[in-house]
This record gives sequence, structure tokens and C-alpha cells, in this order.
Amino acid sequence: MYHTVIVGCGFAGAVMARELAERGRENVLILEKRGHIAGNCYDTYDRYGVWIHQYGPHIFHTDSERVYDYLSRFTEWYDYSHEVVANVNGQLIPVPFSLHTLHMVFEEEMAKKLEKKLIEEFGRGTRVPILKLKEAEDADLQAVAEYVYEHIFLRYTMKQWGQKPEEISPEVTGRVPVILSEDSRYFSDHYQGMPLLGYKELFKEMLSYPTIDIQLHTDARDVLKLENGENYLYGKPYPGKIIYTGPIDEFFHCCYGRLPYRSLRFVLEHYNEEEYQPKAVVNYTVSEDYTRITEFKKLTGQEIAGTTIMKEYPCAYTDSSTQIPYYAILKEENLELYRKYRALVRKYPNFYLLGRLAEYKYYNMDAIVEKALLLADELVKK
Ligand code: FAD
Ligand code: UDP
Repeated sequence: MYHTVIVGCGFAGAVMARELAERGRENVLILEKRGHIAGNCYDTYDRYGVWIHQYGPHIFHTDSERVYDYLSRFTEWYDYSHEVVANVNGQLIPVPFSLHTLHMVFEEEMAKKLEKKLIEEFGRGTRVPILKLKEAEDADLQAVAEYVYEHIFLRYTMKQWGQKPEEISPEVTGRVPVILSEDSRYFSDHYQGMPLLGYKELFKEMLSYPTIDIQLHTDARDVLKLENGENYLYGKPYPGKIIYTGPIDEFFHCCYGRLPYRSLRFVLEHYNEEEYQPKAVVNYTVSEDYTRITEFKKLTGQEIAGTTIMKEYPCAYTDSSTQIPYYAILKEENLELYRKYRALVRKYPNFYLLGRLAEYKYYNMDAIVEKALLLADELVKK
């Protein structure tokens, strides 16, 4: 008998499985509807032998020593600091917008003056969200805000979310602030890198434990039922814990209506060229229908002839049989609907929601690993 059934084999599910099996000495079953482990972090090789991330580029970064040390049990790291440029009408400029970018796009005297004003207003080294910069009253600071808004945020955000930056949660554009230093790295975290042998291998290591079983190609909705305050597994009452990491609305057949998500369409292209673009990721912030292009060999460090790129086309999530819900849309009305589902779940014993989908949050990988470790601390203590 399994002490715990886990739905989903992304970071949330895999970390919980390992922790409950190892620290909690439990027998654990993971149900995963896809044909592979690692959730959206899954990486593989395309038919040209290029190492790709099937569900979009995943770069690991964290300030949490606990998370870094924990994952380092299962992988070594390829030392990689992520840098991104935006293609603005053919000119490539570093993103996040930093003092370095300021000096590229404004004429020298003007740039010096703007730098001085920005630092007087916000302080050197600070990270200023674009929506905050837009509130500045000074006309020169307004000019910087206007440049950044128009050239970096407006159209990219319209593509990604179908809405303007001021119409979406400030948390979202706040992920890529204006940086008042010369640091052009995309992430500021202390630990940054890529699992040396990739995410799938990291997951394999984490999941290779004698008391963890994994069933792929298994949709939890076919085998787990929650009815009248009781949990059932394969038709029999199931008294153990259930950790659910999928979309919560779909588990309850969208009984209160659909939780809105944004989805993505990924298009891969291969070129018989040494390189396609100067950085691993180029954001298209003023043109094109796609938001960004990733060139994988620049991300993974793979040495191979030819190169594979991925274009990301954002779209609404309308069909659960063909699309994947990638991003929760953080709006009050959606959070309200999410809370209704969460209240429904509370009626069932031992049923826990964890992960980007189940919690309807914009988690990075490190945040969900940390959240899983904390939930495991609590459950192991019980
Ligand atoms: P997931 O990885 O989505 O795993 C959930 C699993 O549950 C899936 O495998 C799914 O198939 C399964 N499942 C769902 N429903 C069922 C069901 N009914 N039955 C059985 N199984 C089910 N984070 C970073 O830190 N750095 C990055 O660079 C980064 N890049 C990203 C790029 C993109 C395009 C996206 C979309 C996300 C990115 N992220 C990044 C975030 C990262 O993907 C998430 O933090 C992480 O995948 C969350 O893990 P999870 O386990 O919560 O969810
Ligand atoms: N963003 C933007 N232009 C950029 C980069 C980001 O407008 O060049 C905005 C956009 O709204 C995006 C958000 O900032 O959805 C967060 O960006 P991030 O790169 O963190 O998105 P993710 O990698 O999670 O898709």
C-alpha cells in the first residue's frame, strides 16, 4: 500500500516523492499523464542530435542555499550566467535594461545626465520595476521610462498576455526590472547554472529510490476520485496522502468554470550553421508574433555542428486535449475562482495542492523546489 500518491512528475512532484520516500520512509506512487518525467523542465535530443528543452528554455537560478545544496545532490552544474538581448528594430540591446543599455540607446551627454538622475532618485544598484519608473515626475526620468516601456515592455507583454503592462499583475513585469548598475545578467541570483547532464538526468537521479514507483501515461482523473468527503484510488477507499500538482479546475471537471491560463506554441527550426544569434535568448520586443528565440547550444554548452532554435508564440489556453497551461493569469477575479476550488479541496482529508498549476502561481523552479521541501518538512514531522 502506498502511503502517498503524487499527481505530476515535475519539480513539485519529484521533490515530494524523494523527500517522503527517503526522509519519511514512505512508499510513494507518482501518476504522470505525459510519457516522461520532469514536467515542463524535460529536455531531450532533436533529430539532429541537438540538446533541446521541449517546453521552453529553463535556466536554473536561486538565492536559496538549501535549494542549491539539495539539487546538487542529484546533479553537477554547468556554469552558465544567462544574458538576454532584445531585438529592437534590428538593434540588439541588453535586457534587463541597465546602465549599460542606457548608454547604448541615448547619446553620451544625455545618457550621463540620465544616469545621474536615476541614481539620485533610486540609488545605485537598485532594481526598479518599469511601472514604478513610469510614476517618476521628472521629465528626464519620464523619457527613460517611456523608452523602456515602448521598446521593451509594451509589445512583448501584449504578445505574451494579450494585455498591456499596466493591465496585468505588477509582479509579472517586476520580474524584469530596470537595473541601475552595469550588470547585464538576466537573473541576479547568487547561484546560476544548468544541470550538467540536463534536467531529465537530474530527475532520474532524484527519483531513483527503491520506494518510489512511477506510472507514466496515467491521467489521475481516471484513477483517483474525490467523492462525498472520501478519497478513492482505483475505485477503493484510499486513506493515504494525495499530493496534487496539476491544474485544480480540471481535476474537478471545471465545476466552477475554467481557470484562465496562457499557453505557448513552440516552433523548432534547425540550421546548418555554427550559430544563429549572439546570445542564447533574443527577445523580440517590438516586432514579430513570437516573443523570443532560444538557441539551445548556447544555453547547454553542447558542442555540435548545426544549431536548433525555438520560437515561442503565446496564445490563449482553450483546449486541454491539445494545449498545456503554462502561465496562471494573476488577476483578482481569477484568484477568486481559484480560492473557490481550494475551498472545495479542503473538504477532502490528506489532499494537498502543490506547484505552479495546483497553486495557480508564477513559480520559478527554485521557488517550487523550496515550497516542496517545506511541505515535506511538515509532513515528515507528522
Ligand atoms: P510542472 O513542471 O508543470 O509539472 C506538473 C506535472 O503534472 C506535468 O508533468 C503534468 O503533465 C502533470 N499533470 C498535470 N495534470 C495531471 C493529471 N491529471 N494526471 C497526471 N499528471 C498530471 N523556471 C525557472 O526557474 N527558470 C526558467 O528559466 C524557467 N523557464 C520557463 C520557461 C517556460 C516557457 C515556462 C512555461 C516555465 C518556465 N519556468 C522557469 C518555470 C518552471 O517551468 C516551473 O517553475 C516548474 O516547471 C514548476 O514545476 P511543477 O512541478 O509545479 O509543474
Ligand atoms: N517582459 C517584457 N519584455 C521583455 C522581457 C519581459 O515585456 O523583454 C515582461 C513580459 O510581460 C513578461 C514578463 O516581463 O511576461 C516576465 O518576463 P520573464 O522573462 O520573467 O518571463 P518568463 O521567462 O517567465 O516567460
